[in-house]
Amino acid sequence: MTTTLLPNHLGGQWHTATGTGTPLFDPILGTELVRVGNAGLDLEAGFRFTREQGGKALRALTYGQRAALLAVIVKVLQANRDAYYEIATANSGTTTKDSAVDIDGGIFTLGYYAKQGEALGDARALLDGARIRMGKDPAFQTQHILQPTHGVALFINAFNFPSWGLWEKAAPALLSGVPVIVKPATATAWLTQRMVKDVIDANILPPGSLSVVCGSSAGLMDQLQPFDVVSFTGSADTARVIRSHPAVAERSVRCNIEADSLNSALLDPAATADSEAFNLLVSEVVREMTVKAGQKCTAIRRVFVPRALYDAAAQAIGAKLAKTSVGNPRHEAVRMGSLVSQEQKASVLEGIARLRAEADVLFDGGSATLLDADPVVAACVAPVLLGSREPAKARLLHEVEVFGPVATLMAYDSIEQAFELIHRGEGSLVSSVYSADPAFIARAALELGSAHGRVHAISPDVAASQTGHGNVMPMSLHGGPGRAGGGEELGGLRALGFYHRRSAVQASSAALDALAASAVALTY
Ligand code: NAP
Repeated sequence: MTTTLLPNHLGGQWHTATGTGTPLFDPILGTELVRVGNAGLDLEAGFRFTREQGGKALRALTYGQRAALLAVIVKVLQANRDAYYEIATANSGTTTKDSAVDIDGGIFTLGYYAKQGEALGDARALLDGARIRMGKDPAFQTQHILQPTHGVALFINAFNFPSWGLWEKAAPALLSGVPVIVKPATATAWLTQRMVKDVIDANILPPGSLSVVCGSSAGLMDQLQPFDVVSFTGSADTARVIRSHPAVAERSVRCNIEADSLNSALLDPAATADSEAFNLLVSEVVREMTVKAGQKCTAIRRVFVPRALYDAAAQAIGAKLAKTSVGNPRHEAVRMGSLVSQEQKASVLEGIARLRAEADVLFDGGSATLLDADPVVAACVAPVLLGSREPAKARLLHEVEVFGPVATLMAYDSIEQAFELIHRGEGSLVSSVYSADPAFIARAALELGSAHGRVHAISPDVAASQTGHGNVMPMSLHGGPGRAGGGEELGGLRALGFYHRRSAVQASSAALDALAASAVALTY
């Protein structure tokens, strides 16, 4: 029996694709769930409607009014949470706790921007900085302003965050007055489609403000015009395709890329095996390896400890990983579910085999029996801790991202060497530092900041309040330079910058006073 073909929403209408579409599967049971596809969809008309109708209607609202709409979306999503959890369990193979990172993380981010936007009030433009004198006459000055771009925001998203990946981008875009078209990754498109459907059905936003196109990405980038923006999250390989597309290369479409990353954790050289910093590192590494079965772009992939603590760290991390029960997330004793698909399982196993050319296996949970899951059918991979006593001689360990429950422990001889090895990741989303010494943390932040979107310092005094190495908080920047894609998202109201165009207005003080009356100062 063929399962339901999920309709797409574009051009203010629902469309069901022609043809049979692509099936989505339960990664534990192997059963087909729904289908997605967009054959026969008129992309050109849909993008035009979004740009012309959706954009115009959103820009007619003030920031405060748009923020109020975000708050209503939060309520609708909260009312439907149970359905989202069911979809996530079935389609992503995640435990309830792991689904929350995606579902509640997305709703929280939306709520955060609803609050931030409320404070922008009834303005329709933003003042960027203070007025600047341009010559002797103080009456003639320049004022930079930011206005919502007159285009669409196309989101091409990764499979691991079908909810958060939508809302962390849509919240600042809609608050800015820019209409959204989301193309979720095929493997987990169901949750994104369902959330968009709930919001459309609730009739909250003006027609054309929010659209979803599932299935093939073919032709989407071709639709982009100079004032559109594209925000991509996914692998470095696909990022290359996006960057070199004529829309970006020739039509100057603004492009944000969030790609893969070899994130790291660093233990203070002064730490001892019985120090709290050591224990905090061990707990965080285990958490990062197992949350969402390691399918987080921010997850710790490389763990740097002083050589003297290498064996102790291997033993402590391995002992905790041994307690992680893996299997069907519907079973109450299961702590870690599956990977998202058989393709991901094959890719992770291949990645582990590649890294093993340069690393030892310090812990492999693969010998434990899966709970309530058939090892042949289920896309489960148990946690694997690899290790290298000579990471300076390694290449692959600093290059290959294995997108699963895998990390590599590495020994360092001096802090200078540790910093140098971390930098071999060539730009990452996040590096976390474990130390009780504020001066060491400050030094590490300055050494690592330029190559990382975020430096997350965990010291004993913030052990209970720290938000987690891999958790992306909307008030902090998300993204990373170099290999991580060079993108920037979130960071409070900084996120609005991507969806606005900056212009310098050079005019008399009187004219700038008049301008200021309809704008609000953007402060971070
Ligand atoms: P992916 O294979 O690159 O796919 C990402 C998205 O691009 C999907 O929606 C995919 O659609 C689409 N796509 C594929 N080929 C395309 C093309 N030629 N033109 C336009 N779009 C195209 O990545 P993934 O496997 O979903 O995600 C895993 C990767 O994402 C990991 O490497 C991870 O590190 C990275 N990631 C990064 C972040 C971050 O914030 N930095 C967050 C999450 C994940 P289909 O699914 O239909 O192929």
